[in-house]
Amino acid sequence: MTDSHNRILLKLSGEQLAGEFESGIDPKLVAWLALEVKKVSQSGCQVIIMVGGGNFVRGAQIAGHGIQRVTGDHMGMLATMINALALTDIFEAQELETRCLSNIFAQQVAEPFVFRLANKHLQKHRVVVVAGGIGRPYLTTDTAAVSLALELDCDIVLKATKVDGVYTKDPAKFPDAERLEKISFQEAVENEEISVMDKAALGLAMEHKMPVIVFDAMKEDNLLRASRGEQIGTKIS
Ligand code: UDP
Repeated sequence: MTDSHNRILLKLSGEQLAGEFESGIDPKLVAWLALEVKKVSQSGCQVIIMVGGGNFVRGAQIAGHGIQRVTGDHMGMLATMINALALTDIFEAQELETRCLSNIFAQQVAEPFVFRLANKHLQKHRVVVVAGGIGRPYLTTDTAAVSLALELDCDIVLKATKVDGVYTKDPAKFPDAERLEKISFQEAVENEEISVMDKAALGLAMEHKMPVIVFDAMKEDNLLRASRGEQIGTKIS
């Protein structure tokens, strides 16, 4: 027996949306992703997506040469907005009702993120895409994802990565690396080798016992299976 989830938070990084491209968005890949999310939505599970911006700008990387860190983070948050707008349109083009809610003020382009509004959209089985992370600098969308999952009472955070879970060492460098089915928060936070998710995000998840699954969302039906509580990727709990 597996426990199906009622509400999930899916964290998509900018890198995931770029697919094979070095930056920007691969619209074909996002259209495919829309169909994967649609399966979950049609199964009755509510879906919130926190989208990253690393395919355009990461604050910590762009800061310098006159650009303040805070400004860099603002740029990063705007990058997430670009992704969220694209995702929303491409999802709707696939006949998946989707709303973009922003944590930075951007009334001309998106609805503001308001707790009750987000809940209302979710209850109507619309996919909610959140732009702007949590709206403050010195944070990443991983941390924003965990915070949002707590706020909206999600059952789980599904963190999509290029690899299909957490390995004993970097699988790109070490062929003998082994994938772990589950690990504890403590291990995920303390082990320096584990870098699939921000330590700040893992710390927040640990403090509030919000389980996280690290998995490959680009494999057909993985998202649906994870939403049904099946063993996919690595569970951190
Ligand atoms: N960011 C921020 N506050 C937030 C979320 C994001 O300042 O709550 C900025 C930060 O500069 C970050 C950038 O937005 O580097 C893009 O997000 P992230 O690096 O998490 O994107 P990903 O790596 O997931 O594509």
